[in-house]
Amino acid sequence: MRHGLGSRWWPGNRGNGVLARGLAAGLAAVSLSLLGTVPALGVTATPAGDLAVPLQDGGGHAARTVVTLTFDDGDADQMAAARVLHRYRLPATFYIITGAVGAPGYVTLSDLRQLAADGNEIGGHTVSHLRLTALSTDEARRQVCGSRSILARWGYRAVSFAYPGGADSPQTEAIVRGCGYTSARGLVGLRAPGCPGCVRTEGIPPPHPMALRTAGEVDSSWSLHDLERTVTAAEQQGGWLPLVFHHVCGGSHCGGLAVRLAMLDTFARWLASRQRLGTAVRTVGQVIGGPAARGAVRPTPHVAPAAPHGIVNPSLESDAASGAVSASLETTSAAPADTPRCWMEGGYGRNTVRWQRTTDSHAGRWAQRLTITSYHSGDAKLLPQFDLGQCSLPVRAGRSYTLSAWYQSTARTQYSAYYRTWSGRWVYWTSSPYFAASPHWSQARWATPPVPAGASGLSFGLALFSKGSLTTDSYRFAVTPPDVTRRIADWVLLAALCAAGLAVAARAVRRRRARANQG
Ligand SMILES: [Zn+2]
Repeated sequence: MRHGLGSRWWPGNRGNGVLARGLAAGLAAVSLSLLGTVPALGVTATPAGDLAVPLQDGGGHAARTVVTLTFDDGDADQMAAARVLHRYRLPATFYIITGAVGAPGYVTLSDLRQLAADGNEIGGHTVSHLRLTALSTDEARRQVCGSRSILARWGYRAVSFAYPGGADSPQTEAIVRGCGYTSARGLVGLRAPGCPGCVRTEGIPPPHPMALRTAGEVDSSWSLHDLERTVTAAEQQGGWLPLVFHHVCGGSHCGGLAVRLAMLDTFARWLASRQRLGTAVRTVGQVIGGPAARGAVRPTPHVAPAAPHGIVNPSLESDAASGAVSASLETTSAAPADTPRCWMEGGYGRNTVRWQRTTDSHAGRWAQRLTITSYHSGDAKLLPQFDLGQCSLPVRAGRSYTLSAWYQSTARTQYSAYYRTWSGRWVYWTSSPYFAASPHWSQARWATPPVPAGASGLSFGLALFSKGSLTTDSYRFAVTPPDVTRRIADWVLLAALCAAGLAVAARAVRRRRARANQG
């Protein structure tokens, strides 16, 4: 069963048109002005000064060991963890995927406000949650700087960053630093159940702030004992222990990357009691300190949006490793290796899908086949990767685009189109008329309505929404000529007028009938 990427996934984010134009006009300027006016939030909620000095001199009563609780992705279930931690007055760092904020299963803007108000730190985790090491330099900069600019527009002076999937390199570290973050966290490097030979703690200050080490990801395989032992091992050496959490679960349904809330509660109470032994709990920003702690946060440099381009890898020939950490954003497992480069496997609802690269192609050597072997609801479709323009298609609001692909299908199909809002969120937009089942290669062409205001990126795919198989190849994408666009706009207007006319006529008929009945 597959989840995500459907009509209901990342639903509409209305009222962003003005904001999007503001973004295009100069994100950097907006961020700067916000930094000047927004009240202290997130990292500045608790001054770091109280921590840095005692730690460095190692004085008897000062904290010798610092534990940092970090939460990745901004999953909605983390709010329950935040409430537990707040009860024990333990601050945490939440690394947020800006493009997921407000989407089902993720935190909302009001959740972010609550987290910051409780003294937690809001950090960046890119816009689209893609492996930075698999992206072009331009796209990586858009992902990293973009996340920081968007957080600034929401009122958060983000200084701490975490790499999606823990994937970093000297190049990505330079990008993160260049975007104004003061630290970046990975997923491994310290002693944990999965790495008994690793060092126990990170340094304070850390020797490589753009490659912070952690004791692995705390998941369902960790026991309370594992958590406590990791902390006590760190205490024996002193230093910094960042811990990484993802999902938090309550009932019987607990995924692999989840910890039980009850266990987290017990651990938090235990951890809070360690303070009398000199073990402090601080956010990443508080431990790193520096100018960020004093409120002098570096601005985010302006990064140009992606230049217009056609479909990347249009004939699905290249299957180089995808950048997607997860198409559904629900796990950190990499996208399957046989997904064409720049494409992702989408779909939603309850159905079982098999994906295959096939040499039964329209052009070139390869095509992609998807087969729904059992169907209850939703659909499945191949889509250009949801990103900031490396693979997805840069578009201009108000323009129509003509989509085309060749397909073979045992059932009817149709295009589903998605657009991207200014905060990087992908929203279901609209669907084309149906294309009939076809045992031979057939071309599906469709001119979209004008792209809505506020949209700057487009992704689309031919969807299968019943049992059967659909093979696609040779995709194309072009601006619809202006006269055709005008005609489409006229049709849309005409259809609206007809609908309005019919409604008026129906009301008149009802009124006449009502009068006749009274008479
Ligand atoms: Zn993540």
